[in-house]
Amino acid sequence: MTHSSGTLFIVSAPSGAGKTSLVKALTDDLNHIRVSVSHTTRAMRPGEHDGVNYHFVDRAEFDRMIAQGDFLEQAEVFGNCYGTSRSALQQTLDQGHDLILEIDWQGAQQVRKLMPEARSIFILPPSQQALRQRLTNRGTDSDEIIEGRMREAVSEMVHYDEYEFVIINDDFATALDDLKAVFRANRLQRGQQQQRHSELLRQLLA
Ligand code: 5GP
Repeated sequence: MTHSSGTLFIVSAPSGAGKTSLVKALTDDLNHIRVSVSHTTRAMRPGEHDGVNYHFVDRAEFDRMIAQGDFLEQAEVFGNCYGTSRSALQQTLDQGHDLILEIDWQGAQQVRKLMPEARSIFILPPSQQALRQRLTNRGTDSDEIIEGRMREAVSEMVHYDEYEFVIINDDFATALDDLKAVFRANRLQRGQQQQRHSELLRQLLA
């Protein structure tokens, strides 16, 4: 059994839709999935680790990387810079792993142009009310801050119709099942199966 090359997946969602938890659970459940670690200029949040959640860099380093053409895509998202470096990307796919880019709609547009074969998934919350709830930190944020986050979320969600798959994250287990279904169906495509099971097919058709 030979491996076929992996597929590039773009996953976007507004903050509060549960994208990161879903992707984490997906990679725990399915083999051969890698998640690209982006570069960002934003400050590290408590519990985050450099090189794990992001590669945290300053603006000068980020600009240097842009100038060197290091990024497959990069965008400014709500005042901070984010980018996907090219290094390791093709290698990961060639090794037969599917690769997930957790990026915003602007990055998704850039990747689609460069790699039209990439598949894309948008994750939505079940309601405005649920989203507002998820964007509220234990009652410590002002209404103004929460409304600002809601506006940011809507400005991401209006781009949902540029994506091939849409998953509503109401019940986590159901949303995870849906996400797994997309990856599993992708792996069952004939072209992929022909490569994966070339020996079996040769024997069956002899
Ligand atoms: P956060 O700062 O909350 O981790 O992410 C904020 C936004 O930036 C999210 O919409 C996330 O998908 C997006 N993002 C994270 N990494 C990248 C990246 O490498 N490229 C682009 N274009 N967006 C990114």
